[in-house]
This record gives sequence, C-alpha cells and structure tokens, in this order.
Amino acid sequence: MKVINPASGEVVDTLTETAVSELPTLLAAARLAQKSWAKRSPSERKAILAKFRALVVERKEQLAQTLTLEVGKPIAQSHNELNGLLPRLDFFLEHFEAELTPRGVLGAATDSLEERIAFEPLGVVANVSAWNYPYFVGSNVFVPALLTGNAVLYKPSELSSLTGLAIARLLHEAGVPKDVFQAVIGGRELGAALVQLDVDGVFFTGSYATGRKIAEAVAPRMIRLQLELGGKDPAYVTDEVDVAAAAAAVADGAFYNAGQSCCAVERIYVHERIYPEFLDAFVAEVKKLKLGSPAEEGTYLGPLCRGEAALQALADQVADAEKQGARVLTGGRRVDRPGYYFEPTVVADAKPGMRVMKEESFGPIIGIASVPGDQAALAAMADTEYGLTAAVYTTNEARAAQILEELPVGSAYVNCCDRVSPRLPWTGRKHSGIGSTLSTLGIQAFLQPKAWHIRRA
Ligand code: NAD
Repeated sequence: MKVINPASGEVVDTLTETAVSELPTLLAAARLAQKSWAKRSPSERKAILAKFRALVVERKEQLAQTLTLEVGKPIAQSHNELNGLLPRLDFFLEHFEAELTPRGVLGAATDSLEERIAFEPLGVVANVSAWNYPYFVGSNVFVPALLTGNAVLYKPSELSSLTGLAIARLLHEAGVPKDVFQAVIGGRELGAALVQLDVDGVFFTGSYATGRKIAEAVAPRMIRLQLELGGKDPAYVTDEVDVAAAAAAVADGAFYNAGQSCCAVERIYVHERIYPEFLDAFVAEVKKLKLGSPAEEGTYLGPLCRGEAALQALADQVADAEKQGARVLTGGRRVDRPGYYFEPTVVADAKPGMRVMKEESFGPIIGIASVPGDQAALAAMADTEYGLTAAVYTTNEARAAQILEELPVGSAYVNCCDRVSPRLPWTGRKHSGIGSTLSTLGIQAFLQPKAWHIRRA
C-alpha cells in the first residue's frame, strides 16, 4: 500500500497490507490473550497505559511529523492533536476503575439476599478508524477498551496507517501484549472483512455511507455497535453578538484542519440585521488564513487528505451554488500548486437545496445564509439528516438554550463550536451515529453488565 503525501502527491512510503486470510488467526490470538489481560489487576493495566502516555510525550515531535507527512495536517495542528490527546488519556486513567467496580443495588439487600451489578469487558473488539484525527478518534476507543480489559483489533484508515503503526509500537513498548492490541493495515476490503469476524463489538469512526454498511453487516450478530459518523453542523449567529468576535470564532470552526473535522461548522445562518456586517467580518477573517506547506510552522490551511476526489467534490459544490444564484465571496478554486489544495471558499446567500448546504463538505468551504429570526434559524438548522453538533452565538443564553433544546444533536454549543471535551459524551443522533465515546459513558461502552442474584442459604 502506497503512503502519499497530500502536500505534494508524492509516494513517501510503501506498507505491506494485512491479508484478509490472516484475520482469523489474529482473532484467535486476540481471544486467548484477552483472557489473561482481563485477569490482570486494573492498576497493572493503568500503569501500562500511563507508560503509553509518557511515550507519547517523549516522542511527540516525531509523531507530529509523521501525522503531517501522511495526512497533510499543518504541523501546529498536529502538535495540538497530540497535546489534546493527553487530557483524554488522563480522564480515562482517572475514571475507568470506578466504572469497573461492582455496584450494590439500593433497597434490595436483606440478610439472605444480595443483588449487585458487576461489569465485565466485552472481549475482543474491532476498531475501524478515520484519518482526520487519528489520535483522537483512535484513543477514544482503544484506550478505554484496553483499560477495561478488552483486546483490540485496530484498523487505522488507509490514509493514516503510519500513525496507526506508530500507535501500535508505542502501546507494545509500554507493555500492552502484542496479541492484545493488533494493528491491521489495509483499506475498505480489509475493513469489511474485519467487521465480519466473530468479534464482541465493532467501534467505527467514519462516514455515514460506510457506517451504514457496517451496521447492516453487523446487525444479525447482536453485538455491541458504535458508530461515530459525519455531520453537517450549523452555527447560528444572532443579532446579539460582537460581530467581529463571532466571525473569527466561526471561521476557525469552519476552516480548522481545512474543514476536515466531523464537528466542523458546515453551514452558517446569520440574523438578517447583522448579515452584511457579518459577511464583511467573516471574509476578512478568511483572507487572513495562511495557506501553505503543512510542514511550515505558520501554516493554517494545508492540503486535502483525500486528494483529487475531495477537490472535485468541492468544485462541484461551488458550481452548483453559483448555478443556483449564490455569491462566491472568496476562493472557489483549486490552488495552482503541487498537492491537493483548495482555496478557502465563502459562499453567501446559500439556499437550502444547494449541495454546499446539504452534503458533508469536509473541506475549506462554507455556505452562509441570512435568516429573519430564531424560528427560521431553528427550521434551517434542523434541515439535515445529520445530528452531531449545533452552535448558537448570542449574549442571551436563554435564547440560545431555547433553540438548542429543540435540535436533535449530540452536542449543543453556546458561543463556541468545533469543540470536544473528555468529560462529556461525544455522540451523534440520526445519521451522525449510535452510542457515545468519551466521558464515563465512553468507558461503559466497553463493558457489559452482569446482574448477580445471591440468596444465602
Ligand atoms: P470512511 O467512511 O471513508 O472510512 C473510515 C474507515 O472505514 C477507514 O478505515 C476505511 O478503510 C474503512 N472502510 C471503508 N469501507 C468499509 C467497509 N465497507 N467496511 C468496513 N470498513 C470500511 O471515512 P473517512 O474518510 O476515513 O473519514 C471521514 C468521515 O469520518 C467523515 O464523514 C467524518 O465526519 C467522519 N468522522 C466522524 C467523527 C465522529 O466522531 N463523529 C470523527 C472523525 C471523522
């Protein structure tokens, strides 16, 4: 398998793919190893994952370089991702033992009867992962899975396999037995075969289209399934804001990581009273964003990891918007340089049916529309198959709450966006997914309860 640098289009490495025929042997080894891993004390597993954290800190620079090389993430943002990994690890390390501890049940116990809930690991889980934040989306799964006594068969995205292999090396060096965490290397076909294995849970991060295929493949087996999928996340800027500050914040939410974030702002609705002023401030912000080589420290916008296919999808959205009467205020084209770069693009007067307002763009493009008031904003924000996040900008918190309470989304942002916290569940509704990672719910996700009824003779 070729590893391509999206900043140049050049092949930078070649990897050996895992054969589909090898998977049953890997699973058998994982099954065996999981039993003794689960029998180790929680504090032993905790010490091993704490060592993994220490190795991440020690090798941070090298890991950031690898991520930037294969994904095209600007180096400053690769550093941010590795720094952001640490509080997630800390959260899991601090809280997993409490989730594993059996609980008595209030009001049930008598001298002769005890009722209690115990928590057991699922067993062997498959983790099929995305490339856009490989440390975040990977660690949301494999860290709590390992801490709670599961074995993991991990398939990094074919676009971030060097990082996936680096993660495996660090875990093994920290003391996770080789068969307890195994990275398999390959693309769609391997992913499809992996989720068909007789595993005890499937944890997936990626697109709705793939998530749906996985849900269909897994359904007859009645195993734990979690899907963290895409979004078409809206932000509504009310007429009670500091316009310049809101424009800067939402521009960052839309263009950080070149818009390749599941919770990137993908649509903006602006109260008509401040619409012209907001557009001016927003375009001024976008013009400040520095596009360039991701290896350079000052670069904010790098290339698109998915290459030609991503560029074509964005060009199609621009053509569709222009045909339907939208105004492209800045950008709109591929950048004339090697690699896969697209200009940061602002589409004003966007209409509901336009592709830029419906399809997950996953790139440096944003549609903006004017709305006459909160009811219209609410209706427009709700007009999507997805339900990942939504943001409202206003100094009036009650006004934001009224709108966000009505929206079927997993995360509600007031005066912020494109934000994830280890303490809060990361969860999507509708086409954005099933289940939760992060928070204590994201630890429970890797456990199954056993109800004990103990009658004393
Ligand atoms: P993708 O769906 O193309 O691929 C994801 C993974 O699935 C890859 O490892 C791929 O090899 C594998 N795969 C492909 N076909 C498969 C199949 N039939 N069976 C099993 N596995 C298969 O997504 P991507 O391009 O890697 O990631 C981008 C998408 O991920 C976006 O939609 C983004 O919003 C979403 N995402 C969601 C979150 C979240 O937390 N909700 C986080 C990051 C990314």
